[in-house]
Amino acid sequence: MTATLDSALLPEVADFVSRDRQMLIGGQWVDAASGRTFATVDPATGQTITNVPHGDATDIDRAVAAARAAYEGPWGRMKPNERERLIWRVGDILSERAQIFGQLEALDNGKSVAIATAVDVGWSADVWRYNAGLATKIKGASITPSMPFAGPDAEFHAYTRRESLGVCGQIIPWNFPILMATWKLAPALAAGNTVVLKPAEQTPLSALMLAQVFEEAGFPPGVVNVVTGFGEAGAALSAHMDVDKVAFTGSTEVGKKIVQAATGNLKKVSLELGGKSPNIVYADADIEAAVAGSVAAWMFNHGQCCVAGTRLFVQRSIFDEFTQAVADAASQAKIGPGLDPTTELGPLVSQEQFDRVSRYINEGLADGARALTGGKRWGDQGYFIEPTVFVDVKPEYSIVEEEIFGPVVAALPFDDEDDVARAANDSIYGLAAGIWTKDISKAHRTAAAVKAGSVWVNQYNGFDTALPFGGFKQSGWGRELGDSALDLYTQTKSVNIAL
Ligand code: NAD
Repeated sequence: MTATLDSALLPEVADFVSRDRQMLIGGQWVDAASGRTFATVDPATGQTITNVPHGDATDIDRAVAAARAAYEGPWGRMKPNERERLIWRVGDILSERAQIFGQLEALDNGKSVAIATAVDVGWSADVWRYNAGLATKIKGASITPSMPFAGPDAEFHAYTRRESLGVCGQIIPWNFPILMATWKLAPALAAGNTVVLKPAEQTPLSALMLAQVFEEAGFPPGVVNVVTGFGEAGAALSAHMDVDKVAFTGSTEVGKKIVQAATGNLKKVSLELGGKSPNIVYADADIEAAVAGSVAAWMFNHGQCCVAGTRLFVQRSIFDEFTQAVADAASQAKIGPGLDPTTELGPLVSQEQFDRVSRYINEGLADGARALTGGKRWGDQGYFIEPTVFVDVKPEYSIVEEEIFGPVVAALPFDDEDDVARAANDSIYGLAAGIWTKDISKAHRTAAAVKAGSVWVNQYNGFDTALPFGGFKQSGWGRELGDSALDLYTQTKSVNIAL
């Protein structure tokens, strides 16, 4: 921990990062079996915040054994309303400590502390409470079987039970660390599973602070285990023969590796993967709202959003004026460290991410795209990139086809509804889409035509705890949030009784 950061930190956060952290396995705070650690870095300065255990396959084995013991033991016997109470308590503690969690998240990830507190932590608390309620609402059905081959007088009574899966491995990315941990953990626990969570190596701290909350809320040891480490730990978790399900959020490339690793015991798999989402602006839109919303669509979280609206389709008659307005608005964003409460655009999460985004910008410029604003680094320390709006792009440019995961948008003109639906769907991804128009019929037609798991009309990032979220095409398998999340963490048993 560096002196420059120390002064800005809440005492609880300063204390948390003042020493090397341990990870939680079977209710014990432990080092990696190998004794190795790695540094987690402040992306605004490039300086080390603290060190965490470098967990590997041996630690995953330990954690899976602890999760199995808890599943076969106290957690498996716990009543749904007791699970409900514990899960609700996590939401309450997060609300009580929103400032602390928010600051820790801003420090580790680089995002604005105001956003981290209100959105990442505030929404997480809401998701915990929603899932607390689900724990007591898991239902089967009563069915009267006909069984014609059993003869006319035979009678049966049948019902279905929705049962937990067992031990779940959960692997999450760095862009919304505590929120992604929450989306995964809350429904898995509501459904009665136990978990081994592997946070992203760039942002392990909020998951480790959250792990303390489970102890405090009264969860039995081993119900939630957190193993910090790199892709090798994630790979060991996805391949583990005693893990019943793996849930992953991250890149499509790694998602495919998870699917392959899961084949050993054919564990269940759910995936939230990448995107290159279209944001469609018709000429009849409320232009002022559409400009603001279209900037937020790709700039929120510094573009490090799986749903980022990074293909901006603008109807030809307003294209020049609209894209210039987007560039002007984007260029006014206040850039700075996440810990500064006035910051609107923080640094990218890591040197690697900075290099990746810079490479895409250079490719775009070399291909012949024109940057209306941005196109380069901001400042001389940390991983800041200026918000960048590209025009004069072609569909085959890498900045149009590939997920950049930084504050970069490519704008393309279109003529009519059919034209834009075709162009919007010309992607391997299908995560989200935005539509801006005052014509309600056109909005519905376009919403039906785009191949995406979430469609937002006259807004962007229209998430809600109760609304299922997930991807079409190579953007994923399954739906998180809402009660759909229970489908990912339960299995159905049919029981048929001869009367
Ligand atoms: P990533 O796929 O590189 O890493 C994600 C996680 O997977 C990390 O915890 C990492 O350690 C782990 N991992 C890496 N290699 C692994 C392997 N072989 N086996 C198992 N685990 C492994 O992704 P990232 O760069 O951390 O995050 C950015 C990506 O995540 C983007 O593509 C983005 O679109 C996607 N994302 C998707 C959603 C969604 O909900 N669809 C949400 C957030 C991020």
